[in-house]
Amino acid sequence: MKKVAGLFVSAALLIVLFVPLFSIPILGSFNAIKLQEQGNSLLIEIVICSFLAFIIAITGNYRGFIFIGIIVAGDVTYNLYRIGTGIAGNELTKSLLQYEWGWGYWALVAIAFFIIGFSKDEKTERIKALKICLFCAEDIKIDASICRYCGKEQPIIEKVIPESELIIEDVPEDEEEARILTFEGKIALENYREKKKLLSNE
Ligand SMILES: [Zn+2]
Repeated sequence: MKKVAGLFVSAALLIVLFVPLFSIPILGSFNAIKLQEQGNSLLIEIVICSFLAFIIAITGNYRGFIFIGIIVAGDVTYNLYRIGTGIAGNELTKSLLQYEWGWGYWALVAIAFFIIGFSKDEKTERIKALKICLFCAEDIKIDASICRYCGKEQPIIEKVIPESELIIEDVPEDEEEARILTFEGKIALENYREKKKLLSNE
């Protein structure tokens, strides 16, 4: 899911080069390729960032998207600043202004990079989920087949309800009951503690 979103955003960044695809009368249409011709280094930057984003999406190190997001957001901010102050010179300022809704699209791409970059990793979440060893009662990882404390083989848990599916009413009265449920594969103890904390805060 994250990979699909990552590849999608990486491609969306490349499309920045061609927006706006529609032009407004009289002013004409300008896109990043034309901006490059006007002496703005956007084209190279975007191509490099998009290429890096594809690599990140393929390798799955989504934290890297935060840096891509910073560069993309920085590009938008810097160019809007140049328009605002007029420091880009008349010709380039005119071109930047003609980028129309391309700025909005560009900003949305930056936001998408941040969302994916900051979103929690599914793999990390899974590792964090714990179960209780049936023999020594220590917390062990939900996927463990052998306890790392006592070395005993763990019974196969058929199904663990993810935290998101857990209804608040299902939270057991006490930790002992949660342990029993953990053995039955209905609730991870970590989930139980989280929910219990939420309940006590209310
Ligand atoms: Zn054990």
